[in-house]
Amino acid sequence: MRVVVTGAAGFIGSHVADALVARGDQVIALDDLSGGRRENVNRGAELVQLDIRDPAAAHLIRDRRPQAVVHHAAQISVSRSVREPAFDHDVNVSGSLNLLEAARETGARFVFASTGGALYGDAEVLPTPETHPAWPVSPYGISKLAIEHYLHGYRAQYGLSYAALRYANVYGPRQDAHGEAGVVAIFALALLEGRPATIHGSGNDTRDYIQVGDVVRANLLALDSAECGHFNVGTGVQTSTNRVFELVRDELRPGAEARHGPPRAGDLRASALDCSLIERVLGWRPEVGLEPGLRETAIWFRASLEARPARS
Ligand code: NAD
Repeated sequence: MRVVVTGAAGFIGSHVADALVARGDQVIALDDLSGGRRENVNRGAELVQLDIRDPAAAHLIRDRRPQAVVHHAAQISVSRSVREPAFDHDVNVSGSLNLLEAARETGARFVFASTGGALYGDAEVLPTPETHPAWPVSPYGISKLAIEHYLHGYRAQYGLSYAALRYANVYGPRQDAHGEAGVVAIFALALLEGRPATIHGSGNDTRDYIQVGDVVRANLLALDSAECGHFNVGTGVQTSTNRVFELVRDELRPGAEARHGPPRAGDLRASALDCSLIERVLGWRPEVGLEPGLRETAIWFRASLEARPARS
């Protein structure tokens, strides 16, 4: 099948593109390279460097008529969304809508990378099911929910086929270690460079960590199915930031201590996603355990750092 993967030069999108190429699909990788890297794009995919807000991105879908659009391109920073809500809206709502319009005209199935934590916030129920109220407080979360509502509305109005995947905290190779999220990548790089890793607050706050390979499988199942809906993609297990640090530290620099900084405004206290719906409807469940997943990721970061050309 022909698939447009947006954000295919980024962390998750590049792994989705790899899996599609590996199974013989024709992949059009759409990315403006604002955050992603050209070298992440699978050689078997066709890279089209475009902004999702550009009318040319919609034309690409109208011209090439893919069977599906897997949409991962986004403004991904929660703090930037708070500082620049109009920019976040422009990319994450208007940009997504630009693609959505083309998808409904061509009948492409739409798989959307949404979020769990930023939608549910500090939820009353843990692990949190999709039926939990979603009142996001960051413009980033509001944008993701807005597109979920558009998807629901487009299905009712125009018969659009879609799946919105609400990711937990995704980790794995190629994650950006210089962003604000992605503690696994941030810890790994600090440890490998011999810098102290910073934990914001006590480190007892929890998140649901899901390995990128599991997320890729959820995308493939969502792509191949005709089921429509909004699905959590996580493990249901809470893991503290301190525990994640210890596991990465034990692999990369045993004995290293983390530095504790002040807690960050707006950070969640606890988060985990109930994933029984996606298991029931799409037959997906996570397969990679946290310890082996973190070990493999840490090893990948070490190898990629060693392969980096030395500075003169
Ligand atoms: P990433 O930054 O690695 O990838 C995003 C890609 O989108 C980058 O390659 C970037 O160049 C591209 N991009 C950004 N703005 C663009 C634009 N205007 N036009 C075209 N391309 C643009 O991020 P990621 O962690 O791989 O996240 C992928 C998706 O998953 C995002 O939609 C993100 O919101 C969502 N998500 C990620 C996580 C996580 O834990 N990483 C959790 C929940 C949701």
